[in-house]
Amino acid sequence: MSVENLMLLFIFSFMISSPFSHATPVMVSASDLNSLPKSIIQTTPIKFVGPSTVELDLNDEEITLLAQHFHKLKGRCGGFVTGASVNETHKSFSSATIPSELKRQPEVLNLIPQVEESRMSDTIKWFSSYPTRFYLTDEGKQAMEDLAKKWRDLTKDLPNAEVTLFQHKDWAQPTVVLKIKGLSPEEIILGGHGDSINTDTNDIHAPAPGADDNASGISVLTEIIRVLAKNKYQPKSTLTFMAYSAEEVGLRGSMDVSAYYLDQGIPVKGVLQFDGTNFKGSQELGMILVEDLTSPSLNNLMEKLINTYLKLPWAYDRCGYACSDHYSWTFRGFASTFPFESRLNEENSHIHTPGDLFSVSGNNAHHAVPFARLGLAYALEMDQ
Ligand SMILES: [Zn+2]
Repeated sequence: MSVENLMLLFIFSFMISSPFSHATPVMVSASDLNSLPKSIIQTTPIKFVGPSTVELDLNDEEITLLAQHFHKLKGRCGGFVTGASVNETHKSFSSATIPSELKRQPEVLNLIPQVEESRMSDTIKWFSSYPTRFYLTDEGKQAMEDLAKKWRDLTKDLPNAEVTLFQHKDWAQPTVVLKIKGLSPEEIILGGHGDSINTDTNDIHAPAPGADDNASGISVLTEIIRVLAKNKYQPKSTLTFMAYSAEEVGLRGSMDVSAYYLDQGIPVKGVLQFDGTNFKGSQELGMILVEDLTSPSLNNLMEKLINTYLKLPWAYDRCGYACSDHYSWTFRGFASTFPFESRLNEENSHIHTPGDLFSVSGNNAHHAVPFARLGLAYALEMDQ
């Protein structure tokens, strides 16, 4: 479709749209516009917000439809970004410098052998046992509240730890936030999404176990928290863990949270994303680093951490689009990084279906263990 046709479509859409029936700005790549479901592009105004980006205003039902569409088209998470107008974003934001050398080797080497695979297995089994964690369901809300309780129990003996629920304006499933406060307000963030989705159907109550996507990432965060708490770790900066709501419907939870951080001027040293950690899709590789839409200097540090502390084969790969919550932070001008379980074209084909079960990974969390070790190394080495 040519630009002229798109302009006509824009004018036509604007004429027939109802300004009151759509609420949330959603950005998609202009190259995807031609293939979007007609029911969406015929009823919403379309704004060009950059040479390759288009903004739509959609309601919750249309956002769910868009998530299904992108899953079928690309077979992966996301494909679009929800919850912010481009005008509000891309402000330059200078964060503290990212360490260029590793200085905490004895402490890291003490902590990383304490990661236990069986505990990570237990967390994946538990978190994927909710019938669904879709962001609009009661079970999805309950799962996040139960996770908050688990993180609170794990850190009950750390006096400077606090778990809160970040409430989102437009839906009930909260984002879970644990802060282990340091002397400095600067935050070192580790996160992953807690919600799940079944894109086979429109039924929001359909089974969506999300064992790999992303109970596996939640198990990584939970194990890092357990090891730090057991060792009574006192950070210098503030160490923040987040289980985001509503990633599967256009990164809505993390877009809200990152907007809040930008708005409040909270200084952030870096953001590490775990989304998909337990499926060994690339047989010769233990880990992938997502190269695009992430921070080169933070990725440099990650290279050093992997080579020094994990000593496993890894490679860079590219998502090619806003494929997980790291993008929300990148979008706001913060430094983010995203280690992933496999090459993107070899990823788990069961995600977003009722078949995203722990059994797909052989009922063990072996592949996810190095991600927890990496998160511990990141937490300490960023905290020099
Ligand atoms: Zn995911």
